[in-house]
Amino acid sequence: MMEKFERCKVCNCHIEFQNSKFNLVKCKSCNLVFCNSIFNEEEFIRVYDKLYNSGPKSQYQVHSTTEINEMHSGKLNIGYNRKTLISKTINDRDRVLEVGSGNGLVGLYLKQKFEDIFYKGIEIDQKIATRAQSFGLDIINDDFRVMKGFTDKFDVIMMWEVLEHIQDLNLCLELLKNVLNKNGTLMLSVPNYEKRLNYKNSDNKLFQSGPPIHLNYFTMDSLRKIFKLYGFKNVKIREKSMPYFNLKDPNFYSLLQRKMTGKFHGPTLYLIASV
Ligand SMILES: [Zn+2]
Repeated sequence: MMEKFERCKVCNCHIEFQNSKFNLVKCKSCNLVFCNSIFNEEEFIRVYDKLYNSGPKSQYQVHSTTEINEMHSGKLNIGYNRKTLISKTINDRDRVLEVGSGNGLVGLYLKQKFEDIFYKGIEIDQKIATRAQSFGLDIINDDFRVMKGFTDKFDVIMMWEVLEHIQDLNLCLELLKNVLNKNGTLMLSVPNYEKRLNYKNSDNKLFQSGPPIHLNYFTMDSLRKIFKLYGFKNVKIREKSMPYFNLKDPNFYSLLQRKMTGKFHGPTLYLIASV
């Protein structure tokens, strides 16, 4: 039998049932929706290796290949929202840490934009970390727990689409706080759990990866509550305002229609906070 969370893994309050297909529960206090099963390390490693490194056809693989081609060409596209957050927050000579640095696209972008930026990445997947290092980036191949051993602090920590994967949210949030400089900034993005409401008959469906890939399902409300609970200050959260542009997706037009009638839930949440 798999071990289960009996209470909210963040605030320790009572949980209620939320989604039977994916075994999700919702905290009655902070409203976090999360997977009730506790997975072990070996299960995670197996899942990620399969996801990132097997076969050329997976969505992750196709996306990754496009990104690497861009990185070789030097024409880096990190998307409007990330670009805006970075322009507003990061200054040259800042010390920047990226948790879940992937291929190193954002790191390379920062090196291109700023002359003297200090950038360090943490990437759990060995093959991906090695590839990012080949672009001359300082990448540690480990999971977020490696921050326990950090003696130097950072001005900015970025975490793009990572927090939804992390089982031990408490430890992760504590480490992020410890590693940030006083007045340092954390910026991150996560999928919006509410985006499922953009679709009809969404019952038990998630419209994002299920466990054990994604383990936490955030809304604007739960994200705000959790970061306040952890003592983060100036917590600002916004939704990606438009659907992801894809003319080949038959849903794209109905999503646009929803957008125009004010019933659209942005697919991604962007958070910025300081300590
Ligand atoms: Zn809670």
